[in-house]
Amino acid sequence: MQTLQKRDQSVIWHPFSPLKNMPEPIPIVKGEGVYIIDESGNKYIDGISSWWVNIHGHAHPYIAEKIYKQALQLEHVIFAGFTHYPAVELAERLLPILPGKFSKIFYSDNGSTATEVAIKMAIQYWWNQSDNEATQRKKILAFEHSYHGDTFGAMSVSERGIFTKAFHNYLFDVVFIDTPTTDNIDQLTSFIEANGHEIAGFIYEPLIQGSGGMRMYDPALMNILLETVQQHNIICIADEVMTGFGRTGKIFASEHMQVKPDIVCMSKGLTGGTMALGITACNDKIVEAFTTDDRLKTFFHGHSFTANPLACSAALASLDLLQREECLAAIKNICEQHSNFMRVLEQKHSPVVKNIRQTGTIIAFEISIGKDEYLNTVNKDFSRLMMQQGVYLRPLGNTVYIMSPYCITTEELQKVYSALLGWISLIES
Ligand SMILES: *Cc1c(COP(=O)(O)O)cnc(C)c1O
Repeated sequence: MQTLQKRDQSVIWHPFSPLKNMPEPIPIVKGEGVYIIDESGNKYIDGISSWWVNIHGHAHPYIAEKIYKQALQLEHVIFAGFTHYPAVELAERLLPILPGKFSKIFYSDNGSTATEVAIKMAIQYWWNQSDNEATQRKKILAFEHSYHGDTFGAMSVSERGIFTKAFHNYLFDVVFIDTPTTDNIDQLTSFIEANGHEIAGFIYEPLIQGSGGMRMYDPALMNILLETVQQHNIICIADEVMTGFGRTGKIFASEHMQVKPDIVCMSKGLTGGTMALGITACNDKIVEAFTTDDRLKTFFHGHSFTANPLACSAALASLDLLQREECLAAIKNICEQHSNFMRVLEQKHSPVVKNIRQTGTIIAFEISIGKDEYLNTVNKDFSRLMMQQGVYLRPLGNTVYIMSPYCITTEELQKVYSALLGWISLIES
C-alpha cells in the first residue's frame, strides 16, 4: 500500500504550490481545538488558523452538531425563488452587528466571490442610474499591496505581483494608491478631490492588508481618507474577509473608523472555518439603485451553492460561540499576550528581526535577511523546524506572523513564542 503522500502526489494539484520539487504534503487526520494532528499522532498548534479561517478551534463539537442536524433536515435548495430558515436567520443576526447601517445580505461561496459581487454591485450601481454613458463612473480604486482574491475581478483589484503575473493583460485597469501615512495623507485626499468624479468604488482591507504581507496602517488616517472618498460619493467596499469576526480585537475592523463602508465582504471566519461561505452586505444606498421595475437593472449574479443551508447553519453556530463572554475574553487575552511578546521581541534588539507590529490578535514581523518579497527563501526550513517544536506557522515570504484560533490558551501562546524565539536565535548565529 502506498503512503498517502505518494497517492496525493500522483493525483492532486495543491494551491500556491509548485508541481515540481514540492515538499511532500503532511497527512492530517484529525483536528482538535487549537491542534491539527498528523498520521503518527503528532500534534501541532495551528498558528495561522488554517489560512485565517478557523476562529474557534478545529472540529468544534457545537458547530459540528449544528451542521449535522441541518444536514438531516435540508442540505441545500435552489435559492432563486426559494428561501430557508438558516439563510434568513443568519442575515437577521448579522445585519445589526455589521459596522454601519446595512440592509441586505447577498450570499456566495468564498472570499473571492464576496469581493467579486461587491465590485459588480458598485459598478452596476452607477450603470443602473445613468442612461448616459458620459456620466457613468467606471474606475475602481484600490490600495497598493492589496489582496482581494484569485478570480479575475478580485485579481484585477489586487496588487499586480507574482500571483497575478501571467494574467496582467487580462485584468481591468484599476487606480492604485498607497495606504495612508502622515506623510502622504494630504496627497491622497488631493488625488481623490481631483479624480473622485470618475471613481465608482473603492475596495480596501481595513487596518491590515493580509496576503500583501500583514501590512498595518493607521485607523485615524484611514478615517480621513474615507471621509474624502465618501464626500465624492464613491462606493466604499470594506473587504473584511480576513479582518472580520474578531481578528482586530473588535468584531469588524471597520469599527475602528468612524466612517462606515457601503458594502462589507465576509468569508473566512464567518463559519468558524468549517464550511465555504461568502457574504456581501450592502446598505440602502445600493439597494435603492437596484430596486426598480426595469428587469435589465437586476443584479444577474448567483452561484449553485448560494446560501447553502449547511454553511449558513455553521455560520450561525460560529456566531453563537463568538458572542459568548469567554470568547470575547479569549480575544482580549490574545491581544494582551501579543503586546507583551512584542515588547520581548523589541527588547531583544535582534539584528534579524524588523518591523514588529500588532493589530488585535495578529502579530507580525519581518526577517531582515534577503529581499522583502514572497519568494524570499529565508523561510525554507522554517515550517519544518517549527513543527519539530509542535507549532505550525507559514510565513508570507520573510514576513512571519501569528494568527491563531481564539481558543488558544496562554500556555499554548507561550509555546508558539518560545519556538519563534528559538528559531530567531538559530538564524542569528
Ligand atoms: C483570503 C482573502 C480573500 C479571498 O478569499 P478566498 O476565500 O480565499 O477566495 C479576499 N480578501 C481578503 C482580504 C482575503 O484575506
